[in-house]
Amino acid sequence: MGALDYLKDQLHELDEQGLAIHPRTLEGPTGARARFDGREVINLASNNYLGLANHPRMNRAAARAAEELGAGSGAVRTIAGTMTLHRELEHRFAEFKHAEDALMFQSGFTANAGTVAAILDREDVIVSDQLNHASIIDGARLSRAEIKVFPHKDVEAADALLAETARPGRRQLLITDGVFSMDGDIAPLPALVEIAERHGAIMMVDDAHASGVLGTGGAGTVDHFGLHGRVDVQVGTLSKAIGVLGGFIAGPHHLIEWLVNRGRPFLFSTSAPPAVTAACIEALNIMRDEPDRLERLWRNTRLFKAGLHDLGFDTGMSETPITPVITRDEEKTQAFARRLFEEGVFTPAIVYPTVARGQARVRTIVTAEHTEEDLKEALSVFGRVGEELGVL
Ligand SMILES: *Cc1c(COP(=O)(O)O)cnc(C)c1O
Repeated sequence: MGALDYLKDQLHELDEQGLAIHPRTLEGPTGARARFDGREVINLASNNYLGLANHPRMNRAAARAAEELGAGSGAVRTIAGTMTLHRELEHRFAEFKHAEDALMFQSGFTANAGTVAAILDREDVIVSDQLNHASIIDGARLSRAEIKVFPHKDVEAADALLAETARPGRRQLLITDGVFSMDGDIAPLPALVEIAERHGAIMMVDDAHASGVLGTGGAGTVDHFGLHGRVDVQVGTLSKAIGVLGGFIAGPHHLIEWLVNRGRPFLFSTSAPPAVTAACIEALNIMRDEPDRLERLWRNTRLFKAGLHDLGFDTGMSETPITPVITRDEEKTQAFARRLFEEGVFTPAIVYPTVARGQARVRTIVTAEHTEEDLKEALSVFGRVGEELGVL
């Protein structure tokens, strides 16, 4: 009898409810078509929006940086691990986001969690959308500030919470995802910015799924809505459209300086290796040189969304390349994803706790790399398997 045996029971329970996660293994490079668990499939499961994750220029930039500068950085940023490449990437990102300065983190997760925790303390309050990402929730908890959650995209409720929690000297943070990762809808950022300004609250947006996807050249939701200079903290990830790994914060210089001093993942976790950093810089170059990638992404998005709609699937509130096919029941959703995979289409089943119970779905994400043929084939499989399982 081991002290951890209770976990076996808990895992068994997850399995019984169709909630257990068994990740598939990618047996080659990622791409529009890729090999998982021994099967060649149309890949609608990645966040590789622009097809940069295996772009030859990215691969060469990574290889060259490793050859010239080594495999690792050797230290945390604040001691001896800040490399010229890190600063170069940060300058490029500040420019990309039209911000004064930017700071790189090891992931989008640590960028969010580290920043929220660093800029607030226990006297303060966080007003947060119900569907915000887990890393925002963790950062909010770590800050020890009071957490107030408003119903998804309900600006009036957020406004009321800001009014109700205001006290002299108390800081307020209004925080939202730019694009919501499980539904693919866009935050009502103009209205949120207005109420943040009216209450003197800090406005923070997590553009993990919007960077490289929305706005001019993929600059994100702030650019998409023309809100430059009115959002205090912009979060981005280097792991999704940028195609590599890492996160960053863009904002005023004093915010960045503060995070250098108080952002715990920045202070206490080793910096990104040269290969990662150089590939991220190259991603920005490619986005500038090959603007047609963004156009292809959106063309594919329109085609695939319209196809799912015509078949009669419930695609919820999606407005971006993330399109959920909402099937509600957890076990049916697992079976749907499994049958789609067997028929050559990979879309993950997303179940509780990632989404609410009874809101299970398979989530599709198209990329710039999918051909029309890929998407038409995927749609025909969706139609066939949807009928077979009574999802349609
Ligand atoms: C994926 C995601 C993150 C985390 O980014 P990583 O770089 O993968 O750690 C943060 N916020 C949102 C909204 C995300 O979708």
